Amino acid sequence: MDLRVLAAVCRDAAAMTTPYAWIDRALDTLHRAHWYRSVQAIAGKPGPMVTRAGRDCLNFASNDYLGLAGDSRLAAAAIAATREYGTGSTGSRLLSGHRDLHRQLEGDLAALKGTADALVFSSGYLANLGTIAALLGPRDLILADAYNHSSLKAGATLSGATVVEYPHGNLAAVREGLGQRERYRRCAIVTDGVFSMDGDLCPLPALLDLADAWDAMLLVDDAHATGVLGATGAGTTDYFQVERPLVQLGTLSKALGSLGGYVAGPAPVIDFLRNRAPSWVYTTGLSPADTAAARAAIAILRAEPERRQRLWHNVSALERALSDLPMLPSQSPIRCLRLDRPETALDFARELETAGIYAAAIRPPTAPTSRLRLSVMATHTSAHIDALAVCLREGYERYRPSRLPATAPTP
Ligand SMILES: *Cc1c(COP(=O)(O)O)cnc(C)c1O
Repeated sequence: MDLRVLAAVCRDAAAMTTPYAWIDRALDTLHRAHWYRSVQAIAGKPGPMVTRAGRDCLNFASNDYLGLAGDSRLAAAAIAATREYGTGSTGSRLLSGHRDLHRQLEGDLAALKGTADALVFSSGYLANLGTIAALLGPRDLILADAYNHSSLKAGATLSGATVVEYPHGNLAAVREGLGQRERYRRCAIVTDGVFSMDGDLCPLPALLDLADAWDAMLLVDDAHATGVLGATGAGTTDYFQVERPLVQLGTLSKALGSLGGYVAGPAPVIDFLRNRAPSWVYTTGLSPADTAAARAAIAILRAEPERRQRLWHNVSALERALSDLPMLPSQSPIRCLRLDRPETALDFARELETAGIYAAAIRPPTAPTSRLRLSVMATHTSAHIDALAVCLREGYERYRPSRLPATAPTP
């Protein structure tokens, strides 16, 4: 036998018997279900127009709602901080990694959120994991919206608490879940503020009422609301004008254009998390560059409310232009066009890409149903919004699910 053939046979035989062979089969399943994902690089700075696979395209797939991720002032702040403090934080905040800059950012966040204090984590995902795991344990109860972000679900699992998932936004189910409250030590209602794959809001005032009535904590993830919702851009609490204490979580990586996460709330909550949140205690402090960029973003948020106004102007324009398509209910810059199958979402997204429009095809398991997810930015022009609307309406004629009515049913 040819030596090369022999080598190939041996390799195949080895692959059949390794403990990793199942992965090939699992990947195969993902491909067949049209669930397989891969990455595609973006060249240059983020913005309403980006270069992808060598082509310029209109960007409706970014979380950079205010267009700050490519803002030269954030870059200048990051460069200045790097020059002064270096690139790495060198250790956890409790050891060598703590800088005045971190506390300044935490002060800025607390001021923005109207809370007594705040704590900055290395990502929003870690903020959610650590906060939930620290505040709840095996003797406790978590009531969680079924559409919660992966990080909230992972945090609930990590905590060891009993988790009751209630159907999306269903207050009657929350009430029913609270019926078991007495059997547990502590309880928390955990929800996204703006649901990341749908764009609708949690019923915050009603959830707060229930939480207060049942001696439960309320944890709201404002990742997509911070900088976006409310008169000052403070998020869901600002939008609903609630002033009672609750625990607000979020990220520095969306409207704030940087990287990192935070928790804002009453001072004892923050003090406790500094002692007990494992994803804060045992991880390296946020880099000086990310910290300084986030501070610059919060200053711009305050100084330039016109950015937020422009964002909402664009959202309204898109809403009007697509009013006869079956969009999912949304009160945020996230707008989703309902489609029936994952492959339809993929084909539609590919067709849009050919037309120079970058929009995300969202499929299970990220969301329960397939859709095109569009996110509007303050830096989109009216021409950008118009171009998107024309392509969507045209394409929808081909991708319209046969079993859905032509117009959106009234909710
Ligand atoms: C993006 C996101 C996070 C995670 O934030 P990162 O800073 O990107 O880790 C958490 N929750 C929600 C709802 C998000 O959309």
